[in-house]
Amino acid sequence: MAVIFDEPDHVGHEIGHDTPAYYTKLHELDGYIGQILQAVKEAGIWDDTVIIITADHGGIENGHGGKTMMEMETPFIIAGKGIQKGQVITNSMMQFDIASTIADLLGLQQPQVWIGRSVIR
Ligand SMILES: [Zn+2]
Repeated sequence: MAVIFDEPDHVGHEIGHDTPAYYTKLHELDGYIGQILQAVKEAGIWDDTVIIITADHGGIENGHGGKTMMEMETPFIIAGKGIQKGQVITNSMMQFDIASTIADLLGLQQPQVWIGRSVIR
C-alpha cells in the first residue's frame, strides 16, 4: 500500500521550503504517519510490515527541480520485517533504488532493464 501526501509541496511553493510553516506542515504529517503506524499495529500486521518514508524531491525557496542539494536530497527511512535496526545508509542512492529495494524485500528478481540496486543488502 502506498500513502502519498500532497504536502508539504504546496507549503513549499506558496510559503517556502525550509520555513517555519514548512516544518509545521511536516509536524502535522508526522502525526498522520503515527496514525498509520497505529492502524498497522491494530490490524495485527505490524510484524509482517515494512514501512518506507521518503519524498520525491526537496526544495529551495519556492521551487524545486534544480541541481542544489536542498532540491535533490530526500529522506529515506525504512523499518520493519527484515530491516536491521539502527543501520545508516552511507552510500548515495537514487529514487529508482527504492523499487529495487521493494523487489528485494518481496523476494522478487528485478527486471533486467532496471538499473536500481537494493539498499538493504
Ligand atoms: Zn512541487
